[in-house]
Amino acid sequence: MTLRLRVGARTDVGRVRQGNEDAFTVQHPLFAVADGMGGHQGGEVASKLALERLERVTDGQADLAQVVRDANRAVFSKAAEDPGLRGMGTTLTAVLVQGDRLHWAHVGDSRMYRARDGQLERITTDHTVVEQLVEQGRLTPKEAEIHPQRSILVRALGVEEDVEVDEGDVEVRSGDRLLLCSDGLTGMVDEDDILRILTDHQDAQAASDALVAAANEAGGQDNITALVLDVEGADAAAPARPVAPQTETVERPLAMSEPAVPVVQRSLSAGRGGDRRWLRRLAWVLLALVLIGGALFAVKRYWVDQQWYIGESNGVVALYRGIPAAPLGFELFEVVETTTLRAQDVTRFPEYRDLDEGITAQSEQDARDIVAQMLRDLNEARRQEAQGP
Ligand code: MN
Repeated sequence: MTLRLRVGARTDVGRVRQGNEDAFTVQHPLFAVADGMGGHQGGEVASKLALERLERVTDGQADLAQVVRDANRAVFSKAAEDPGLRGMGTTLTAVLVQGDRLHWAHVGDSRMYRARDGQLERITTDHTVVEQLVEQGRLTPKEAEIHPQRSILVRALGVEEDVEVDEGDVEVRSGDRLLLCSDGLTGMVDEDDILRILTDHQDAQAASDALVAAANEAGGQDNITALVLDVEGADAAAPARPVAPQTETVERPLAMSEPAVPVVQRSLSAGRGGDRRWLRRLAWVLLALVLIGGALFAVKRYWVDQQWYIGESNGVVALYRGIPAAPLGFELFEVVETTTLRAQDVTRFPEYRDLDEGITAQSEQDARDIVAQMLRDLNEARRQEAQGP
């Protein structure tokens, strides 16, 4: 059987922005939200163009993720053609009704939620730096909600020639409500309030209107879009396909080093029981020192010298071998390579703020990957800054 859906949707410029770069599509069997970015008219062009491409889908047989990849190409090509649109991009969160199930595809930081039995469940993962920090356990979800850099995207449509698209099936049954929304809603209204508003308004359009109104009341600092889908008829007996989001894996663990440096404790206890006792003690101490020295040598050779980390050297980011420690003035590290990245530029990013203490890598290759990621993050931030707010 086919799902019966009721839809409500609203987009609004908010209270601060001049134009609305958000857009949505309500064109059964396709529903989508896009949040554009880019200077001049770029943001509006990107979100509209992406949705236009998506709207070519007219039936549930389409390969939604592939259509999203095509839309990415379309936005990317347009940005390459027109210097005024350079650097534009957009988020895209879309669902396609395929018989009795809903398939979704997603890039960026717009979101899809499912409300069921008084619970709100987030289906999509934000492609933001902050979300990666949450996955790494370095930020709590609550901290992420108010993080100043929460809108720095690591993935968007139209920015590169190819884009990795998350996709999955969301299992639904009668009475479920799906919400697709831009970050102009989630940045202003917390999830408890979103759920309360969804619960208070039975009608899908009334719920969308109320969500947008709440974001405006909270400040309306960004464009706001809310698209509500009410599932009215679904075959409850049909075995639901498991939700299979292909979410991004965390590319690189940034666990901080806890240098396990053996501490040499020199115990110079004075012997009072005659020369022989004193000599025996001296022999024991010498033996202990030899053993400790040998152990230290082994640790240095077979462990310390195999360690890699990223640190600072004369104001720039550098690749280090060893561990960032110097017990008894004995340095356990050496600079292998310096880069052209300025340390002060890199430490602006929360995930690199420990640079001066050293960012541990798993291997030389991993260390080089982290440096490459730093460069990409810097370029991305510069690009976003160049585009203005
Ligand atoms: Mn936005």
